[in-house]
This record gives sequence, structure tokens and C-alpha cells, in this order.
Amino acid sequence: MADQTLLQKLFISKGFSDYCWIDPREIVTAQWVRMKYMFGCDFYGSASCPTDIPSLDDCRVFFDEYRLGTLFHLSQSFNDPEELRIWSRDAKRALLELERSVCLSGYHKTFLLFMDSCNLCRECAGSRAACRNKKLARPCPEGMGVDLFATVSKYGYTLDCPENNERSLDRYAILLIE
Ligand code: SF4
Repeated sequence: MADQTLLQKLFISKGFSDYCWIDPREIVTAQWVRMKYMFGCDFYGSASCPTDIPSLDDCRVFFDEYRLGTLFHLSQSFNDPEELRIWSRDAKRALLELERSVCLSGYHKTFLLFMDSCNLCRECAGSRAACRNKKLARPCPEGMGVDLFATVSKYGYTLDCPENNERSLDRYAILLIE
């Protein structure tokens, strides 16, 4: 049984206060998400994105191996793409620190899904084999076939298409815990 009080303290200490507990078996996966990723996402083919991550069936098996996770809501307003890039990179670094802290607290299965495509490097190496940060790069939910619209709505959150607002965004990261 997870010590959710301890985990909550870790989340808050790392600056993540907008979150909810989830049952990873409730994460919705769908083939249409993978198709949209293949035909419509600029990051398709990056080192932590399809085609270098597991099949949709394997992603489903992976999520079903967990009983507890956390959905983190991150929102940000920005004036230009560079500001957004830096915010996204720094938030990922903080999430990776949190993943490490949770793992060191005894939750050895802990695994993070970034809230968007990995941008730890200014230019992605383009394949998992060539990745410059193999220990730190993580996939994002959409890359793993997660229907975020359906998944976040189960937990009372909403998601808008980025094209509908060019100056602010809502993103969701997932921490699979045990
Ligand atoms: S760590 Fe760098 S090379 Fe690896 S997936 Fe992320 S951006 Fe690409």
C-alpha cells in the first residue's frame, strides 16, 4: 500500500501541487492517437517518440502493470516559442528529479511520462540508440498511445487543442508509481 502522504509531500516539495491520483488501468489508449502522431506531429521520429517506443499493445500491457499513478496538470502562458521551450525543458528536469525521489522512497517501478516531446537537448539526436541522455529521456503520453482527452476528463480536467490558444497551454504529465 503506497504511502500517499509521503508522496504528496514529495510532490509539493518539488513544486507540483496541481495533480490527482489515478489508476493507470483507467488510462485510455487508442490507435487513432498513434495515427495522429504519425501523421500530424512534428516530433514523430524523435528519439523518445514512435517509432522508437513500444507498440500500442505493449503500452497497454505496461499501463496495466500499475495500480497507482499521478496525473500532473501543468499550465503556462508564454510570449514566444523560446520561452515555451525553456519552461518545458525546466519542468521536465523537475519532474525527473521527482521521479528519482519517488523511486528512492521505495517505489522501484516508478516511471515518468513527460508532458510533451522530450526537449532536454536543443536538437534531438533522432533515434533511441543515438540519444544523448538515455537515462533521462522519457516518452510523452501521446507517444504511448494515450488518449489524453478521454483520460484527463475521467479525472475532472480538460484539454484544449493547442491551436485554439497560441499564448497559453495546458499539459499533463503522468507518473506511474506502483
Ligand atoms: S535526451 Fe536529447 S537526444 Fe534524447 S530524446 Fe531527448 S532531446 Fe532527443
